[in-house]
Amino acid sequence: MSLKCEQLTYTELAAQFGTPLYVYSRAALDEAFKAYQTAFATLNPLICYAVKANSNLSVIRRFAELGSGFDIVSGGELARVLAAGGDAGKTIFSGVGKSEAEIEFALKSGVKCFNVESLPELDRINQVAAALGKQAPISLRINPDVDAKTHPYISTGLKANKFGIAMSEAEAAYRYAASLPHLNITGIDCHIGSQLIDLAPLTEACERILLLVDKLEAAGIALQHIDLGGGVGIVYHNEQKPDLQAYADAVAKVMDKRPQQLVLEPGRSLVGNAGALLTRVEFIKQGEEKHFVIVDAAMNDLMRPALYQAYHHIENAEPTDAAPILADIVGPVCETGDFLAQNRKIAAKPGDLLVVRSAGAYASSMASNYNTRARAAEVLVSGSKAKLVRRRETIEEMLANETECL
Ligand SMILES: *Cc1c(COP(=O)(O)O)cnc(C)c1O
Repeated sequence: MSLKCEQLTYTELAAQFGTPLYVYSRAALDEAFKAYQTAFATLNPLICYAVKANSNLSVIRRFAELGSGFDIVSGGELARVLAAGGDAGKTIFSGVGKSEAEIEFALKSGVKCFNVESLPELDRINQVAAALGKQAPISLRINPDVDAKTHPYISTGLKANKFGIAMSEAEAAYRYAASLPHLNITGIDCHIGSQLIDLAPLTEACERILLLVDKLEAAGIALQHIDLGGGVGIVYHNEQKPDLQAYADAVAKVMDKRPQQLVLEPGRSLVGNAGALLTRVEFIKQGEEKHFVIVDAAMNDLMRPALYQAYHHIENAEPTDAAPILADIVGPVCETGDFLAQNRKIAAKPGDLLVVRSAGAYASSMASNYNTRARAAEVLVSGSKAKLVRRRETIEEMLANETECL
């Protein structure tokens, strides 16, 4: 049977739009968003889609239509949210290194708040707000020091990580923020890591944050929202599917009718399994020790295997009579780290189309021009309709910003 995205076969999509190609299912985006709304219904949270997971304008626009707010980490992402019709008033600005220009842009746009990660950042936001004659809404990102038990590169809630303000310094940091005339303290947030399968650390982080909220309240610092950061992990391979409802129930239990608004910042779990990367087999190379399936997508299209040794399921888009082989599935980029899969059983012939699963998150948004490879096109599918939502980059576009001589 031909593999499909909604009602369209990957084969016809590749024929129409070429490869490599990212394909997203709109129904899957909707379903993932509604799963959060349903699970957390009793808490009526503001769901702020983390734009960095997939920043295509059509993806952002779809979430805006569903009522989503946004979590952004740069002025560029804010521009995307605004261009896609997102509401700045439901947008939260995260990240450890906001520039003055970014802060100014966000203040003028009217973002919901800045998630602040250090004392110098508080000073900078205060200064920019003063220059504009504005009050900046801020929340402090507190590092709850819990182990998210995920890959070290996507674990962010430990003392050794660059993110957030230490729990032991939190109260002093809030007092300092309260002393700055152009800041309005509105909330608190934490984000302990990504691709969490065991959800106990999330609940533990929430409990620790709530203890701090009580302490702050006793000290006369009242908060309006509590932001628990990113979403749950997704199934790439053989992970146990995280139980979103159980997480929501645990949060509801500890939130226990608090007045604060709950904010969530899911990224991966809203888009990851809504997308696939289509790639064409160029050659099958029989090495001395290993076989290689050489395809037209590479680490510049999907960096996760090279960056995190991540696993992506890969299937032939069509039934094949090719014999399965054990091979590394690699791209044309000149790096040994350029692989989509290693030691993978795959049945394919040159010219076959492969479907790389779970490529909706941290795939196109991490794409680069390494090896002067044009970034791939993106297509959004709904039912039997497919829309090109980012056209394939051209060589001329890649060269356009450069000059040849001094
Ligand atoms: C990346 C990130 C998220 C999204 O995390 P997911 O695991 O993709 O849900 C949310 N908040 C912040 C601050 C982030 O850096």
